[in-house]
Amino acid sequence: MARNPRFDVLFEPVRIGPVTAPNRFYQVPHASGMTNALPNVRARFREIKAEGGWGVVCTGAVSIHPSSDDSPLPFASLWDTRDIRNHALMTDAVHKHGALAGVELWHGGACSLNRTSRIAPVSPSGMPWLSTHLGFMGNLRPRAMDLADIADLVRWQAQAARRALAAGFDIVYVYAGMGYLPYEFLLPEYNQRTDAYGGSIANRVRLVRELLEATRDAVGDRCAVALRISLEELRGRPGTTAPSEAHEVVALLADVPDLWDVKMDSSPTDCAPSRFSPEGSHEPIIDFVKRVTKKPVVGVGRFTSPDVMVSQIKRGVLDLIGGARPSIADPFLPRKIDEGREDEIRECIGCNICISSWHDGVPVRCTQNPTAGEEWRRGWHPERFAAPSSEASVLVVGAGPAGLECAVTLGRRGYPVTLADRERDFGGRMRFETRLPGLATWGRVLDWRMGQLRTLPNVSLYPESALEALDILGLEHTHVVLATGARWSRMLCGANEFPIAPPAAPRVYTPDDLAAGVVPEGPIAVFDFDNYYLAGAIAEQLAQLGREVCYVTTAGGVSAWTFMTNEQPLVHRALVKAGVAIHTMQRVTGFDGEELALVDWFGGRESRLPCRSLVIVGMRTPRNELYDSLYAVSADWKRAGIASVTRIGDALAPGAIVHAVHSGHRYARELEAHPAAPAEASRAASADAMPYLRDFST
Ligand code: ADP
Ligand code: SF4
Repeated sequence: MARNPRFDVLFEPVRIGPVTAPNRFYQVPHASGMTNALPNVRARFREIKAEGGWGVVCTGAVSIHPSSDDSPLPFASLWDTRDIRNHALMTDAVHKHGALAGVELWHGGACSLNRTSRIAPVSPSGMPWLSTHLGFMGNLRPRAMDLADIADLVRWQAQAARRALAAGFDIVYVYAGMGYLPYEFLLPEYNQRTDAYGGSIANRVRLVRELLEATRDAVGDRCAVALRISLEELRGRPGTTAPSEAHEVVALLADVPDLWDVKMDSSPTDCAPSRFSPEGSHEPIIDFVKRVTKKPVVGVGRFTSPDVMVSQIKRGVLDLIGGARPSIADPFLPRKIDEGREDEIRECIGCNICISSWHDGVPVRCTQNPTAGEEWRRGWHPERFAAPSSEASVLVVGAGPAGLECAVTLGRRGYPVTLADRERDFGGRMRFETRLPGLATWGRVLDWRMGQLRTLPNVSLYPESALEALDILGLEHTHVVLATGARWSRMLCGANEFPIAPPAAPRVYTPDDLAAGVVPEGPIAVFDFDNYYLAGAIAEQLAQLGREVCYVTTAGGVSAWTFMTNEQPLVHRALVKAGVAIHTMQRVTGFDGEELALVDWFGGRESRLPCRSLVIVGMRTPRNELYDSLYAVSADWKRAGIASVTRIGDALAPGAIVHAVHSGHRYARELEAHPAAPAEASRAASADAMPYLRDFST
């Protein structure tokens, strides 16, 4: 198909100093969790984006010196010449597809606690970053830099820039954002210096200018020099010669870099989750930059709509459309627009599971794109699939995230597939969850897969089809996949963090009851020991319905695991705003239909709250009735033509949506690809067949 001329502007080349980006799609630097230890994983991950049409593809943070060591969080380095070859793998891979390769040179200053190198962290004035999150806390405070330290820093940047040039990069960054060292010089709270690098805004900008100039001297006219800068905090500070200090900083450096890469200051606003921020949320902070500089400007905003992208260009907000998460969720986003297939874009849902992978210290994972991070390790290409090696057909039972992804991928491979669900609407758990406050955008998991299924003539869809074992024996499919999901349990949480017996009282509910339409009477307690998003979202919704709601958790904070996805402070704020009373580090020990008994997790103090309804969001167990009944008739499988029965997704092991999608995708990729072991928890049709056990670490 031909590209819609409305989007032509997105495919114009853009000059960036001495180099030219082939189009306006710019994959900005973003963490991948891949480090120098996984050079092939990293090169392939970035290469696929170049193949998918991104005109510029950048690395994540690349440390310039061992005094910027983020361990145990993953980061890359260009500390000496031995690191060059490692990065050259990526630049070669990106260049193969005509894209430019950018490198984000980085020094973390007071934010990098140097847990491995054990070098005292450096900072403008010895001011620490007072992290409130356990994952980022440390006890070692930074030391103040003297003038010799500043000269060293500028030299390290120049040396790293020369190594970047040798590694084949086209765009070399100075990174003055997100609390890292050059950014610390910009803010008076960190920078309390009384020399030429502190005080006036011109002095506070001096280090960034010197880093830019040193980088330019190092790379000459062979690379562009980019400045990545956080402007949120500075925009909030009135300037003396311009509306804000952000305006003043940009004016002072206006044409020094070849490219401005502008962003927010903290992870929750920069990688803003869709639950709390719409597409394009950076615009009010960065909209002025293009009016102050003549150099091209790139910025992000979870852009997935080509019309929004065009509007950013036409309204003069950005020159290049930055993408981090949209490029993970769909590495082929530009190609799809170019080929008139924009309705096939697999849009990022803004769940930030990708960011949780960085916090976990592992290669990036994505809810929407199960191939992210698996391009090299498993050889998964997001757009290419192996054709079937047999005439086999597949029945997938259950159209939640796991079953949908499985059916789509099997369908794209070319298998005849039947997808059945007992409900009228497909989506499984998403039917309920996307109706909760802020979670509508997550419905893209369902929307994209339904869109794909409609284009696949080899996949038949059967809604309102509750299947039982005998039905399946009569359906003549070679492989049966059970994606029947999990159900929430009423179990409580015991003192040893084991699940214990449910309370014997009226009005004890789980999310499944709410999904079925129950609206509990108030006052309601939502007891959370799942600690991801669901209990917080349910509490918020019940409060919005006018109920008196309290939220109780065993953890130290609201929806505690959402710290991993940048959502936690925002969930807390939303519950406070909705009037939900918050009880942290408490365990429910009893409920009689009128009162809730709590105990302080560590202190042991007991308390009671008036409560008519208790919603328990704790444990889930696989919905396995169909699997068990099929297994009971396994002697009949062969006669029925069934070669295997396999559970995937929550029916195998309850998890987040990202796990279900990956599980469904993996089954579909591996069907008949490894005849000796199709998937874990699979049973084959022979009387003495043993369950296959697959090594999860492969
Ligand atoms: P997952 O996250 O693993 O995809 P979900 O709970 O979201 O799991 O989805 C499971 C789906 O399976 C639900 O839509 C449910 O209606 C469907 N389902 C469960 N048992 C059967 C069955 N016996 N026949 C047809 N559909 C079923
Ligand atoms: Fe987007 Fe979620 Fe994928 Fe990250 S994990 S790229 S936020 S869909």
